[in-house]
Amino acid sequence: MTDKNSLMRRLPAVDEMLRIITAQEWAKAPEVIIKLAIQKEIDRIRQHILSGDTYQFSQEDLIVRIKTEIEKQNKPHLQRVINGTGVVLHTNLGRAKLPAAVSRHLLAISSSYSNLEYNVESGERGSRYDHVEGLLTFLTGAESALVVNNNAAAVYLILDSIVKGKEVLVSRGELVEIGGSFRIPEIMKASGCQLVEVGTTNKTHPADYEERVNEQTGALLKVHTSNYKMIGFTEDVSLARLRAIADGHDLPVIYDMGCGLLMDLKTSGIGEEPTVRQCLEQKADLVCFSGDKLLGGPQAGIIVGKASYINRMKKNHLLRAFRIDKLTLAALELTLREYLTPETALAQIPTLQMITMPEECLKARGERFLHRLEQHADRNYELVQTQGQVGGGTMPGVCLPSYAIAAAIDGVSAVQLERQLRAYEPPIIGRIVKDRILLDVRTMEEDELEMAAAFFNNYHVKGDTQ
Ligand SMILES: *Cc1c(COP(=O)(O)O)cnc(C)c1O
Repeated sequence: MTDKNSLMRRLPAVDEMLRIITAQEWAKAPEVIIKLAIQKEIDRIRQHILSGDTYQFSQEDLIVRIKTEIEKQNKPHLQRVINGTGVVLHTNLGRAKLPAAVSRHLLAISSSYSNLEYNVESGERGSRYDHVEGLLTFLTGAESALVVNNNAAAVYLILDSIVKGKEVLVSRGELVEIGGSFRIPEIMKASGCQLVEVGTTNKTHPADYEERVNEQTGALLKVHTSNYKMIGFTEDVSLARLRAIADGHDLPVIYDMGCGLLMDLKTSGIGEEPTVRQCLEQKADLVCFSGDKLLGGPQAGIIVGKASYINRMKKNHLLRAFRIDKLTLAALELTLREYLTPETALAQIPTLQMITMPEECLKARGERFLHRLEQHADRNYELVQTQGQVGGGTMPGVCLPSYAIAAAIDGVSAVQLERQLRAYEPPIIGRIVKDRILLDVRTMEEDELEMAAAFFNNYHVKGDTQ
């Protein structure tokens, strides 16, 4: 056995490798990245040697590894991926995909000055909130509107501005947790409100609210159970009923709607979610929702409702901490503008377009995908029917009948294949069902089907002689 010390002595020095690597014409990365890559790969070999491996390395191998590591480190960490999960609003994959027109506008706004807080007509200071308020009030019928960083911030800002120090009544059936530790009881505590639970887990009646209203009460809060569905022996109190109760005591009704639907999808046969306008018509004083769920825009928290309440929020010093960034505003404004032409909004907003895509279109897309895949004796590709989801903690009870390519390659486990798809450029995210990898076509565009097909067509099984 070669002894460890002599192997260690043969390890190249970082500076020596740096000279070799920087002389390569492919080595275009910043020196700091090159150095770190060299360090990392040399350390890796050192660990091998220390652990007693009879590890033989050649300089060529080392250079190849360093090159791979440099390539990995020298590209943006936040990168595009192909969503083959069929989940339209995948929180881990960035939720809503923005309309194409939005990205073009973003580019222009991001690399120039803008009238973010400047009134071009008067030459005076303006408000960043003015850019979308008119659009939001027009689209929802609200008196006033305000946008913040996300919906969690919106809920916090509402409670802090309007009900701080008072009691807020919430049904026990609506004490939800949204992913990422957003929990109604915690947010309530943090904003200095006293949560008063009413009703039971499965049933809450109007009388449950009536009994608990007193002079300490600051608001009635309804929370949309966006990420789960209660079925069976259940009952909740509608916004309209809450309104009637609140009116008797001069209290505001706040609705944390979550998903923020601006266009009726019931008419497309999808789900039973009311639109923001419908919630306001039921006389909620304030409705808040996310920008990157069913609205199909950027991450944002949108608050619409009574001007008297929204004005209080505009004066709250916390607004500065939650304020929306100019790129988000640019994206939100353009997404909202798509809704001004309802006839084309469904086609122009990727989230809505994917959710409402008819089954026959999905099937045709799946067939095109299948067609692109070259047949080999060791490959098995099949177009299968699947159940897709809207995702993002929205429409939990809704199944979207969809199509996927199920792929299997002889001698390669589904787990290996899934890992290799993730290592692809761009990474392709699928899921494993019964030892096959499934790529759902609902969330994949034509060019992405092409890239996925290229992955399979160029795939060589290790040890394969072809
Ligand atoms: C999603 C959701 C939130 C959190 O919204 P973010 O925009 O992710 O911060 C809060 N409440 C409800 C009911 C939700 O569905």
